[in-house]
Amino acid sequence: MMNGFDMNNEYIEAVRRINAGKSRKLFVLTFGCQQNEADSEQVRGIGLLMGYSLTETPDDADIIIVNTCAIREHAEDKALSMLGNFKALKRKRPELVVGVIGCMAAERHVVEHIKTGFHYVTFTLEPNMLHLLPEVIYRKLALGKRSFIVGKDDGSLTEGIPAERSSGFKAWVSIMYGCNNFCSYCIVPYTRGRERSRPSESILSECRGLVAHGVKEITLLGQNVNSYKSDMDFATLIENIALLDGDFTVRFMTSHPKDVSDRLIEVMGKYSPKIAPYFHLPLQSGSDRILKLMHRTYNSEKFLTTVRKLREAVPGIALSTDVIVGFPTETDEDFEDTLRVLREVEFDLVYSFIYSKREGTPAARMDGQVDQARKDERMSRLLALSDAFADKKNKELIGTVQRVLVESRSKRGSESSYTARTLTNKLVHFTSDECLIGEFTEVLIEKAGAFELFGKLKK
Ligand code: SF4
Repeated sequence: MMNGFDMNNEYIEAVRRINAGKSRKLFVLTFGCQQNEADSEQVRGIGLLMGYSLTETPDDADIIIVNTCAIREHAEDKALSMLGNFKALKRKRPELVVGVIGCMAAERHVVEHIKTGFHYVTFTLEPNMLHLLPEVIYRKLALGKRSFIVGKDDGSLTEGIPAERSSGFKAWVSIMYGCNNFCSYCIVPYTRGRERSRPSESILSECRGLVAHGVKEITLLGQNVNSYKSDMDFATLIENIALLDGDFTVRFMTSHPKDVSDRLIEVMGKYSPKIAPYFHLPLQSGSDRILKLMHRTYNSEKFLTTVRKLREAVPGIALSTDVIVGFPTETDEDFEDTLRVLREVEFDLVYSFIYSKREGTPAARMDGQVDQARKDERMSRLLALSDAFADKKNKELIGTVQRVLVESRSKRGSESSYTARTLTNKLVHFTSDECLIGEFTEVLIEKAGAFELFGKLKK
C-alpha cells in the first residue's frame, strides 16, 4: 500500500503563498534514534518546500518542531520539559508555531496531556504521517486551528518526501518502518506500528542518486532491517546496492538475531568491504529464560551460531551488541549467562542499559522487578568486562592499515586533527595537513583505547 506524496501538494503551495515575501524560519529539535534523525531531515526538506529557511536555534524560529522519542520514560520527561521551555518564546511571539512529532505523538495519553496541558503547542503528528505536515501547518496559519493527529496510521507508506540531509557524504536511507516483534520491554510496535517495507526500486533509485551526488556512506535504516520484504528480501536488496557503481560503503541497522539469514551472511562476505564488515547484533540477555520473557524468540546457542557464521564469512568483521541489565526476575545465574556469552563472543562494543520500566509494555507489569542496587552492581561488572574486550579488540588493530571515512575535525588536538571511522565503525583520530573531510583515506593505527584509535596517514 502506498500513498504518493504529491510534490505539488496544495497545502505546500498554500503555506508558500502565506510565507511569500517574509523571512520565515524552521527549527527542528531531534531526540532519539537514527530513524528520528532521518525523519527530521524529511521535516526540513518539507519546510524548505513551504518557503521556510532553516535555523539552528529556537530563538529566531517561526516554527519549532520537536521530534520525540518514547523508548524510555526519561526521554519523554526530557522532551516535555523542553516543550515547557518554549512557553516563554510563545508568550513573546504569539504567532510562533510549535509542533510535536515522533514516537510520543503516537501515544494517545501523551497527546491528550499535550493538548490540555500545553496550550501553546499547535499540533502533534504521529510517525508515518509526515506527509500531513503541510496541512497541519496550513490549518494553524490560515485558520488558527490546532491539530492532533493520532490513531490515523493505516499501515500505508508515503514515498517521495524530500530530505534535507545534514551531511553531504553520509546518508540514512529508511528501507522499512515499524516492527512486528513485540519484545516485551519495547514500546516501538505501539508507536511506530506494524512493519512495512519500501519498494526496492525506490530504495535503489534513492541510493543511485546519493552515490551520483558523491555520498560515501549509506546506512540502511529500519527497526528490524533483516525482515525487509518487498519483491526481494534484505540480502538481495543490499546485494543490489553493493552492485551499484561508485566508491561508497553500505551499512545497516538495526537487526534482530532471529532474522539473520545464511544468505545475508554470504552476501556480506562476498561484497565486503563495500558492505561494511560490521554487524550490530543485539543480544539483550545471555539467559534463555530471560530471552523468552523478553519475547526475543532466539536462544543463546542460536545467537552464538550466527556469530560464528559471520566471523567465518567476513574475516575481520566487528561486532557490537545491546544488553539489558536487570530485566524483571533476572537472577545472578541469568546474569552470569549474559557474561558467559560476552566472554565467548568478545564484542568490539557493548551498548548496555539498565532495565527501567516502560509503561505500556508487558515487562512493566511483570512481577520480580530487580532492585536498583543489584542492577547497578551487575552493570558495573558488565561494563568492566565489555570495556576490557573493547580495549583488547582495538589493540589488535595496532600496526594495521585501516580504510577510513573522514568525518570532521577532531574536537581534541590541533587544527589539523581529524576524526574518521573505520569500515568496522571504530573512531580514529589522526592528523593531516590537507582537509580530507568526506573522503576515504588510509590510516596506520599506532595507539588504541577501548573507544578510540589513534593513527597517522599512510603515505
Ligand atoms: S525488535 Fe524488539 S526491541 Fe527492536 S523495535 Fe521491535 S519490539 Fe522493539
